[in-house]
Amino acid sequence: MLENKILNYLEKINSPISVGVLSKAINIKHSTVNSAVKRLVEKEFVRWEPYRSVELVAAGKKEAQHFKLHEHLVAHFLMDVLNLTEEFAHEEARKIANVISCDLIERICEVYSHPSQCLCGEILPNGFLHDH
Ligand SMILES: [Zn+2]
Ligand SMILES: [Zn+2]
Ligand SMILES: [Zn+2]
Repeated sequence: MLENKILNYLEKINSPISVGVLSKAINIKHSTVNSAVKRLVEKEFVRWEPYRSVELVAAGKKEAQHFKLHEHLVAHFLMDVLNLTEEFAHEEARKIANVISCDLIERICEVYSHPSQCLCGEILPNGFLHDH
């Protein structure tokens, strides 16, 4: 989902960026990115005034971390159970990470004893996102 992609990118670079630069960086049409950023403004995940840079706010950062937690836990599960490669597992995980419920994610988390790291090595945001 484009909105998650944008949130993740903003979290990664950790500084405000113009929509033009952002659309080049993620290789998606300016107008498409423009509408996605507007939706993120409505959800109050980013701050953005026309002709200014897009800035991630605290709620957006939390959302990005939440998505990241879902993505890596799903990938962890796919790598472990189905023996998928790291790349394939994460690619598939990104497609479903935001449609899978927190309850199901939490079940995966429990099975692996609330891991602090994904099998890919990525450090996972801690459990406050799922109230533990
Ligand atoms: Zn991972
Ligand atoms: Zn969740
Ligand atoms: Zn957990």
